[in-house]
Amino acid sequence: MQKQCPECGDKIVGRIDKKFCSDACRNSFNNSVNKDSKNLIRNTNNRLRKNYRILEDLNPDQKTKTSRAKLIEKGFDFNYFTSIYTTKAGTIYYFVYDQGYLPLEGEFYALVKRES
Ligand SMILES: [Zn+2]
Repeated sequence: MQKQCPECGDKIVGRIDKKFCSDACRNSFNNSVNKDSKNLIRNTNNRLRKNYRILEDLNPDQKTKTSRAKLIEKGFDFNYFTSIYTTKAGTIYYFVYDQGYLPLEGEFYALVKRES
């Protein structure tokens, strides 16, 4: 079977274990793969940082209560958190670093800061 260069699509001529048609294509392919994974990490870090700031803003003391609408209005993204804590009673807290939130009934959330 004729192999194709994953970067430019040209046919690969030469050794059977060759993956790219040229060094240039290998380099540019690897660079773009690295760039994508760096973007992913950067975007995830940005979301976490934003979530953290929102929780910090809404919860300047150790403990408070807020609504889902307020969190969403500020741009909170519920898909991004750093850890989950389950109490013995089975209550699940979601944490963004040391700022946690707990879903309550009726679209409300308890916000808690973890003591360090
Ligand atoms: Zn190529």
